[in-house]
Amino acid sequence: MECVFCKIVAGELPAKKVYEDQDYIAFHDIHPKAPTHVLVVPKVHVPKLSDFPDDETGERALGGLFRTVNRVARETLGLAGYRVVVNVGEKGGQEVFHVHVHILGGWQ
Ligand code: 5GP
Ligand code: ZN
Repeated sequence: MECVFCKIVAGELPAKKVYEDQDYIAFHDIHPKAPTHVLVVPKVHVPKLSDFPDDETGERALGGLFRTVNRVARETLGLAGYRVVVNVGEKGGQEVFHVHVHILGGWQ
């Protein structure tokens, strides 16, 4: 298994975990680009956002992911406002090919 986020999900790599449920995990980015920089990651390995199927299954997966982003940002991190970023594909600046949403915030 080569995927770093799968390794974090499996507990084989350490991470500063802030949230976990049956389907998602959230942890601090190792190279934070904001005072608070957390990644929300589905536990299932899907390489990139555009790989979710264009059907109701994909809609549920996308809804679940962004619902979790809101929950982590507001409830876990206590952010009143935040920036959400998803890099999609090499040409979109994606470096880790396991779907993740960046939550950036904590600016004064
Ligand atoms: P991407 O460009 O793929 O959207 O962003 C990947 C992010 O994952 C980067 O911000 C990078 O700092 C972060 N990252 C890469 N490897 C690790 C790791 O092993 N642990 C953690 N916590 N973050 C990582
Ligand atoms: Zn993975």
